[in-house]
Amino acid sequence: MASPSSLYPQNVDLTNCDKEPIHKLNRIQLHGAIVSCDLNSLQIVQCSSNISEFLNKTIDEILNLSLESIIGNENFESLKKAIDQQKFAPLDLVVGNKHLLVIPHVHESHCILELEQREEGVDAFTYQQQLTDVITGLSNASDEKQMCDKAAELVKDFFGYDRVMIYQFDENWNGEVISEAREENLESWLGLHYPATDIPQQARKLFLQQGVRLISEITTESVHMVPEISPVTNDIVDLSKSELRAPSLIHIEYLQNMKVGGTLTAAIVYNHTLWGLIACHHYSPKFISYHQRLSCKFLTQVFSTQLGLRAFNTSLQKVNSSSVIRNLLIKQMSENWNITEGLTAFDTTMLNLTEASGAAVFIDGKLTSIGKTPDSEEILKLNNWLTEHKKEDDIYFTNSISSIYDQGYAFKEVASGVLQVAVSKGNNKLFWFKPEIKETVSWGGNPNKPAQISSDARLSPRKSFDKWSEEVSGKSAPWLDYEVAAAKALKESISEIIIQKYDEVMELNQKLEKAYNELESFSYSVSHDLRAPLRGIDGFAQIIKEDYFESLDDFGRNALETIIKSTEKMNLLIDDILHFSGLHQKEMRVGNVDMNSLVNQVIDLNQTAILFPNTKIEIDELPHATGDQSMIIQLLSNLINNALKYSQESPNAKIQIGSYVENGKNVYYISDNGIGIDMQYKDAIFGVFNRLVDDSQYSGSGIGLAIVKRVIEKHFGNVWVESKLGESTTFKFYFNLPE
Ligand code: ADP
Repeated sequence: MASPSSLYPQNVDLTNCDKEPIHKLNRIQLHGAIVSCDLNSLQIVQCSSNISEFLNKTIDEILNLSLESIIGNENFESLKKAIDQQKFAPLDLVVGNKHLLVIPHVHESHCILELEQREEGVDAFTYQQQLTDVITGLSNASDEKQMCDKAAELVKDFFGYDRVMIYQFDENWNGEVISEAREENLESWLGLHYPATDIPQQARKLFLQQGVRLISEITTESVHMVPEISPVTNDIVDLSKSELRAPSLIHIEYLQNMKVGGTLTAAIVYNHTLWGLIACHHYSPKFISYHQRLSCKFLTQVFSTQLGLRAFNTSLQKVNSSSVIRNLLIKQMSENWNITEGLTAFDTTMLNLTEASGAAVFIDGKLTSIGKTPDSEEILKLNNWLTEHKKEDDIYFTNSISSIYDQGYAFKEVASGVLQVAVSKGNNKLFWFKPEIKETVSWGGNPNKPAQISSDARLSPRKSFDKWSEEVSGKSAPWLDYEVAAAKALKESISEIIIQKYDEVMELNQKLEKAYNELESFSYSVSHDLRAPLRGIDGFAQIIKEDYFESLDDFGRNALETIIKSTEKMNLLIDDILHFSGLHQKEMRVGNVDMNSLVNQVIDLNQTAILFPNTKIEIDELPHATGDQSMIIQLLSNLINNALKYSQESPNAKIQIGSYVENGKNVYYISDNGIGIDMQYKDAIFGVFNRLVDDSQYSGSGIGLAIVKRVIEKHFGNVWVESKLGESTTFKFYFNLPE
């Protein structure tokens, strides 16, 4: 059979006291007694060593007895019913001249009955009065602070403890005394903090389960169970649900250090978690009856409900006002389809959405910040860091960025708190920042002071409970639920705006393309139709020249020459326009193109040697290209003709045609040493009819480079110019069709 010492961890200290099995200490408090039965047979298998004081029988007489013979038939029957229904109520039991209260519960194959003296003298009216005071007192409080003060005051009035504290946990389970009602001669503990180790996690778990816990006398004396091991489970009986469970020795030492004689603790539960405690201290032992403990439970339940209601109302108000602000921001963003402007440039900004004091928008690589924020470089570095380390999180927030990101120390004054949301895909982000709140935390004793070993080699908690102050830095006020929800909702609205904007742009694009196509076929047919009348004009002008030239005076002859030149020019223009608009409709016939052969064809066809006898032409060995041969001829023809045309006046006119490889692509170039191009027009020259030269000096339609550009677009490539005015011009291009 297991022995208790083999089941109990030796050497509990502050490093492992959170593992101490405080529900299985096998000891109970002096003010009551326990009998424990096998749940199946309802035969008594264990009892506390003080049982004779309550039942007028020896332990040996009690063990193995049927429960019925102890509590009487009536009680026994109602207990059996309670076990069936899992609904327990205390039973009255009179033993000799003792009036006892029997508090039953079931746990792990045991039915456990706890016996304590029944209180005398508190009537139903007093209880009712107390409960009414609780409800009116707590619901009349105007805010949370007042409600806590009222709760402390009521508990002190009802039960007469020397000190009653409302103790609230923070996110790390450190506690702070936020309200206090005490005897005048006691020093105040209001505002003191206690480290999380003071109430270890398994103790918090039991508080959550049990609600109210009485320790009537802080003493190491206690009563143990006989036999020590339950024959039902072959283990120490689990007293998690017991009212009488004795406190752990380490907790007794802790309370004795504070000179406390008796305590009552009630759990304040909010959202299924332990929000805080009502902690009552008395400087001498103090017993509170079962019914008074129920009143205290009722009070904490009303308190928790009120707390929840208030928090819910405040958050509802804030959610409402933030949704009004969000709608306004959406309107602002949609006005010019500009997210950054909508969030930062109007009277209402994204700052109004939360309680932050700074904010920033990082959209399409551009950062804009408002209010108090880290500088741009710091935000961008933070953004990179968060992108790398928190990429899974669409939304990320902390109230102490410097505790996870070292470089955050530099800007902790303005931005200890960071809330970030990712907007749509890519690296678009919204940030909110909250400044550092330097806080002086007053601890009840130095929380970092090492634990001390007492003479019996057991560990004792910190001996000194002197006030210990510590400055907490690098922390901002926390991000509230409604702020995080508002940021999330804004993110979703922005995504919708982007999608809506995308749809609109797509629709516009389609309309534009349709209009463009119509315009192209219109200009194609107009140009085409102009050819016939033009041919007529030219034909008749030639007839007049041949047959009537002599009979014309000088003016007539000049006018006739002008008509003939103009028709030539117009013919060229029509050719170019037809080429240009024809390109749009033309289907591509992609193949392997011998660039050297095409360059030579163009040079021969254009009678270059005859028309530009002084121009030297150098052609390198060019790599083959993938593309539409007839389109590439048009491209080369325009670029080579321009090079010849705009360099013909140069003393040593020279054209070079070559290629090189860049980023795995063959880049072709055609350069000349002619008049050059002012680089401010490097893009404009590729537009239709844009010319930088005088018509009278250099003929041309201004369409050639537009044709070049269109051919390149059809080949998914690129074309650009590099030039020095008065010196040289180089056009470069590459194609990008798969081979
Ligand atoms: P154009 O018929 O006028 O030559 P383009 O569209 O071919 O029309 O060229 C647009 C303008 O770009 C020209 O009018 C000229 O001002 C400038 N340009 C093009 N190629 C050259 C070049 N090689 N040297 C200098 N200027 C050039």
